[in-house]
Amino acid sequence: MNLQNKNITIIGAGRSGLGAAKLIKTFGGIPFVSDSASFDKLKDFTEQLEKYNIEFEIGGHSGRVYESDLMVVSPGVPSDAEVILNAKSKSIKVISEIELAYNFCKGKIIAITGTNGKTTTTNLLNHLLNSCGKTAYAAGNIGLAFSEIVSKVQSEDFVCLEVSSFQLDLIDKFKPNVAIILNITPDHLNRYGNKIENYISSKFNICKNLTAEDSLILNADSDLLINNLPKTNTSNYFISLKKKYNSGASLENDNLLIIENGTEKVIAARSDLNLLGEHNLYNALSALVAANIFNLNREMLVKSLRTFKAVEHRLELVREIDGVKYYNDSKATNVDSVWYALGSFDQPIFLILGGQDKGNEYNQIKDLVIERVKKIYAIGSSAKKIFDFFHTVVKVEIKNSLEEAVKAGNLEARENEVVLLSPACASFDMFENYEHRGKVFKQIVNNL
Ligand code: ADP
Repeated sequence: MNLQNKNITIIGAGRSGLGAAKLIKTFGGIPFVSDSASFDKLKDFTEQLEKYNIEFEIGGHSGRVYESDLMVVSPGVPSDAEVILNAKSKSIKVISEIELAYNFCKGKIIAITGTNGKTTTTNLLNHLLNSCGKTAYAAGNIGLAFSEIVSKVQSEDFVCLEVSSFQLDLIDKFKPNVAIILNITPDHLNRYGNKIENYISSKFNICKNLTAEDSLILNADSDLLINNLPKTNTSNYFISLKKKYNSGASLENDNLLIIENGTEKVIAARSDLNLLGEHNLYNALSALVAANIFNLNREMLVKSLRTFKAVEHRLELVREIDGVKYYNDSKATNVDSVWYALGSFDQPIFLILGGQDKGNEYNQIKDLVIERVKKIYAIGSSAKKIFDFFHTVVKVEIKNSLEEAVKAGNLEARENEVVLLSPACASFDMFENYEHRGKVFKQIVNNL
């Protein structure tokens, strides 16, 4: 891609927008960043843009955004935003930030998508590759833009790239060497016209350019994924805890098993994985299959598997007080991730649920809640909805703050019980984001 002296507009001045602008500058293009958010929200980024001498506007999009050859869109911007539709109608090519960076990537790309588990799997795979003597970078949706690191990547290096459906909506030539689809369950439907089919097809965009030399790793137990799988001529690997496929991975007698053309090999024991829950088996098996494609040494692989710890805010053990364990699962922003969180414990749970509702359907977790949850503390703007849904089957108390909920859990939970923040909701009604919510939770727990 030749950017020399080209005017390029970047929509969104966050991490991805800043990364894209810097990359464009490095390759001789003329970036112009435009964001509709207010100065207060973007202060950290505008300082950086100034530092790198990149032109920008905030608080709205002027006509200047259309005076360009190319428009690069940050993942936070919906693909039906007026500015994008306008650009398309003016025949300006519109791409996502990963598509831009892809054009400059010399290394091998393992792209990881799915509704849940992306960050965990991306970090785990990155850890496995680096611990086994390769040079790997974790980038994408995990908080470090692909554009930020791509110039460093050499041809023998790896990029473990977390890609969201929003990034995939606007790709053109983007083609990973290995694509992993972890699962598909309803999420973000507000951005997809409330149509699950739109969300599914955006996830499958990851397969768009794959060829016979590429590999596709899929969760065969995820119905929405497997029932809608498009035809590809890739090498396919199926992850399943229910049955063994000819190529893929499974669990047998508490061993993590990889299968290649019918040949099985035990890679590690279940106990080598320091992550709770069945969902993390899918994540780990997916990462191990990817590692196996690149022939990593098995012994080193097991050693590195043992040293991987849960990523912050994902079923993270915060503290144990008098035999009660406090877990921070603030990243559980949808119902499916709460389902897996509840399934990860044998002990009775005091569950902190609630926040900003995303059109949640709680039926999926009703039976598990009845089985495992002693009491729900409902918080945030969805507290009433949670109360109405659950109060006939389990004790529910509405709490005015996260602190009140944690303190109530502290008073009521007994030895061998768990206090779990796994909210199933977005955080924006009470916090800046899920990280902020998780940090506040940890602070409260650590002050108990
Ligand atoms: P993502 O990056 O896709 O949001 P994370 O690894 O950050 O995924 O995990 C988000 C939430 O989903 C956490 O609560 C985590 O415990 C849960 N989770 C992780 N992996 C899976 C999975 N494979 N299936 C369902 N839930 C998962």
